[in-house]
Amino acid sequence: MPHDHHDHDNHLDPMEARTRALETILTRKGLVDPAAVDAIIETYAEKVGPKNGAQVVARAWDDADFADWLARDATTAIASMGFSGRQGEHMQAVFNSDSVHNLVVCTLCSCYPWPVLGLPPVWYKSPAYRSRAVIEPRAVLREFGLELPEGVSVRVWDSTAELRYLVIPQRPAGSEGMSRDDLAALVTRESMIGTGLPTGPA
Ligand code: FE
Repeated sequence: MPHDHHDHDNHLDPMEARTRALETILTRKGLVDPAAVDAIIETYAEKVGPKNGAQVVARAWDDADFADWLARDATTAIASMGFSGRQGEHMQAVFNSDSVHNLVVCTLCSCYPWPVLGLPPVWYKSPAYRSRAVIEPRAVLREFGLELPEGVSVRVWDSTAELRYLVIPQRPAGSEGMSRDDLAALVTRESMIGTGLPTGPA
């Protein structure tokens, strides 16, 4: 089945086009500083956006029924927490285990689950990541500082406009008894893409 990718590499979608036009006008008039806009985008990509996904992961760690629901119907389970909308209409949660590590890529462009992760990081959109994640995922993971044990296989998921993935990393050892908010604080953006792991409890 051919993937129905968004053609956002070739054509901006209307919202993106409007946003860029607005930024250009405001910059020309001296009303905004492009560096400030970059900083806002960076904040949304790294801090604000992924907080939603972190709440989903923390709840999955803490609530077996929810984890089950997430495995069966991620779109509905995630929407029940208020995280839904564009680029998150069709979600699948992929669970790491002792034997499988999941890694998400979009080989054709930059499909990404906005409602749970915010904006995609620059490296996610880079041609190098998009091709190498499939060809040599272990080498890519190593460059992110993640060395997986021999016995763990890497499963690579190619995102499309039809289906976006959220990696559910394994709950870190030593996190027993932590509150859901404290658990969420351990969940990194990279751990939900598969290029990293959650941080351990302090
Ligand atoms: Fe894409």
